Amino acid sequence: MIALQNIRKTYLQGGNEIRALDGIDLSIAKGEFVAIMGPSGSGKSTLLNVLGALDKPDSGTYHLDADEIASMDDDASSDLRNRRIGFVFQSFHLLPRLTVLENVLLPQRYAAVLDPSAEQRARSLLTRIGLGQRMTHLPGELSGGQLQRAAIARALLNQPALLLADEPTGNLDSKSAVDVLELLAELHANGQTMVLVTHDPNIAAKAQRTIHLKDGKVDEVQV
Ligand code: ADP
Ligand code: ADP
Repeated sequence: MIALQNIRKTYLQGGNEIRALDGIDLSIAKGEFVAIMGPSGSGKSTLLNVLGALDKPDSGTYHLDADEIASMDDDASSDLRNRRIGFVFQSFHLLPRLTVLENVLLPQRYAAVLDPSAEQRARSLLTRIGLGQRMTHLPGELSGGQLQRAAIARALLNQPALLLADEPTGNLDSKSAVDVLELLAELHANGQTMVLVTHDPNIAAKAQRTIHLKDGKVDEVQV
């Protein structure tokens, strides 16, 4: 379903070339749950941003089903991102003046075609993840674990082919982290394809495969 071939990405830092990704090959099957680990600066976020079509590689190919994303123009890749990819961030990125329900419906604001069933889907997602009583609350009234679960609901609204998460439990206390981890495991059990960056060995243990990056290369793969 997903195939990266020889992906390279270089940044310039003070006149020096930094090879953030240095020839990454990676295939991910539909329904697979993959964790990415590695030291700070090893390229984890860059790889996730390439997978999420937020960042373009300098060279290499990226197929998501029939689409080749690395060579798409910005409009095409942002359209594809909205339709097919869900993104979850460490710091939630919920908008503080919108209710939880409105936040979960945000991906519909950017959709080319409005989906009349989206609100019903948002409500049932929120109910399913235990936030049925919080839909009209503002983010400021929720705990960290509730915020991250709402952010996951938002990422799932458009029923993405691929769910990506960058350190999803990095800002949470250990109990909330367990709640979020259980939600991710349940999504995986229901067939969601997921890739997440984590430092947390408990999360990596739930994944089917852990890819260790070092200096922009795949260093080791654990199954
Ligand atoms: P990780 O997520 O593993 O910490 P990153 O993908 O964030 O690693 O970064 C990989 C390398 O690329 C690092 O050396 C980092 O400093 C560099 N880098 C990442 N993003 C940028 C950027 N926007 N501009 C310049 N250098 C960057
Ligand atoms: P966190 O600290 O929650 O992990 P960051 O703000 O570091 O999140 O974002 C992770 C990456 O995603 C960064 O490279 C950033 O450029 C990108 N990013 C952050 N927010 C958005 C957004 N709303 N839409 C698209 N890209 C984003």
